[in-house]
Amino acid sequence: MQYENSLAFAKALDKKDMLRKFRNEYFIPKKNGKELIYFCGNSLGLQPKLTEKFIKQELADWQKYGVEGHFMAKNPWVSYHRQFEKPLMNLLGAKKGEVVAMNQLTVNLNLLLISFYRPEGKRNKILIQANEFPSDYYAFEQQVRFHGLKPEECIIEATPRKGEKTLRTEDLSNKIAEHKDELALVMFSAVNYYTGQLFDIKKIAAACCEHKITFGVDLAHAIGNVPLKLHEWNVDFATWCSYKYLNSGPGGVSGVFIHNHHAKNFNLPRFGGWWGNDEKTRFKMQKHFVPAEGAQGWQLSNAPVLSMAAHAAALSVFEKTSMKELRAKSFLLSGYLHFLLHQIPSSAFSIITPAKADARGCQVSIQMKENGRKVFDILEKNGVIADWREPDVIRVAPVPMYNTFEDVYRFAQHFLNAIERVS
Ligand SMILES: *Cc1c(COP(=O)(O)O)cnc(C)c1O
Repeated sequence: MQYENSLAFAKALDKKDMLRKFRNEYFIPKKNGKELIYFCGNSLGLQPKLTEKFIKQELADWQKYGVEGHFMAKNPWVSYHRQFEKPLMNLLGAKKGEVVAMNQLTVNLNLLLISFYRPEGKRNKILIQANEFPSDYYAFEQQVRFHGLKPEECIIEATPRKGEKTLRTEDLSNKIAEHKDELALVMFSAVNYYTGQLFDIKKIAAACCEHKITFGVDLAHAIGNVPLKLHEWNVDFATWCSYKYLNSGPGGVSGVFIHNHHAKNFNLPRFGGWWGNDEKTRFKMQKHFVPAEGAQGWQLSNAPVLSMAAHAAALSVFEKTSMKELRAKSFLLSGYLHFLLHQIPSSAFSIITPAKADARGCQVSIQMKENGRKVFDILEKNGVIADWREPDVIRVAPVPMYNTFEDVYRFAQHFLNAIERVS
């Protein structure tokens, strides 16, 4: 696309945008009566207008039926989590039985590591990306210690080449080959929270497959942002959160993907709880855990219906479109931001997110050389919601579901003005 640096051009793109109507499905936060430029959907997505209705339904059924709501509610609570299977399969590229909504991301990560990080002898290491999200890093460290091993010996970080900000896939494949006899697990965030880099999960999965190394993916910044084909790519397991691009609300419910080739592997170590037990005997109140087949068998507790109601509302909007359509708009929307930022003749910043469309999602990470925090504060005063990540990055995420090309244009204007003011 030949972009132009003008408000009229941005407005023309909005007019042509087939997904434009979806903005109206969300509450856009305002300041002094004016809609904010909300570029923080990578941190907390906006509230769908349907959310209240979905939660109220469950509150009403609880008022009306009490405990009998488990079976008599409009959406019976006993099987409430089942409704997420189809929309999650669509978002993840998963097959039946491979997904279940449950818990929070870091809880799930720890549960999955219990099953899939099984150090044995020399094969006791985990390969991760440098600059991984701290919560994941803490989980890796603690799991390594849990096995009586030392994090400094067992966690290998793949780092970018000198002078580069992002990792090259070929370097990663080489690193996997180099350590193939020591690796118990490779675990990667599909989209890095800091740089916004999207990794070639298919290639990394293939490299792991070749050397028979288990491969897990954290999809916190990928689900609802980029198309995924977890089953086809042969990813062993994955987890995510639903409050970022999926808009399911603060602390919203997470979920796990377990590839079908592990569905009946009951020898995998795992923790137990009644919701993971085979449904046929779940309510017989017997001793001895019999895990259900597939992802269901990793559940522990009964479903948190009120937060899941928000998840159901949020996913119902995704069901009205597709990742293909969202991705097509996202290419253009974030591409427009790249274009406008490149028009600014200033050495005060650089973009660390790869420009190549297949190596990024919505997010654009702007690394500030100086006065970054001041620029960020000015943006905030002017009605831009972005986020600041220490030490020097402003992350902005134009989200195809509710952001506009006009938002992008106006952001670039505010950014230019802020830079001029502090220099
Ligand atoms: C957002 C995010 C988390 C947050 O973890 P919670 O358990 O949901 O609090 C963890 N890991 C990554 C990579 C994230 O982006």
